[in-house]
This record gives sequence, C-alpha cells and structure tokens, in this order.
Amino acid sequence: MTKAPFKKKFGQGSKVCKRCGRKGPGIIRKYGLNLCRQCFREMAQNLGFKKYD
Ligand SMILES: [Zn+2]
Repeated sequence: MTKAPFKKKFGQGSKVCKRCGRKGPGIIRKYGLNLCRQCFREMAQNLGFKKYD
C-alpha cells in the first residue's frame, strides 16, 4: 500500500469546476468539460443537449 500524505493536486486532475471553481464529487469531467452539475446543465442547454432525466 502506498499513501502519499502530501498528495494534493490543484488544476489538472483535480475535481474543480472550470466555470465557477466549485470543488466536489459532483464535477462532471465527461468530454473534458470539468464542470459542476449546475454549470453542466447550463452549458448543456447552450450546446443543445437534451435532459437525460
Ligand atoms: Zn460550476
């Protein structure tokens, strides 16, 4: 087992919304968007995506 106590990554690789800067598990990295769910929704609407709910 390998544990890196000081492994903190910012920027690339970290889950941060590139639009609003929000961090968390809700970040969508599909298609390389790196957006939180809220921003993704707005972006998706702008891009013409349909709601998948
Ligand atoms: Zn966001």
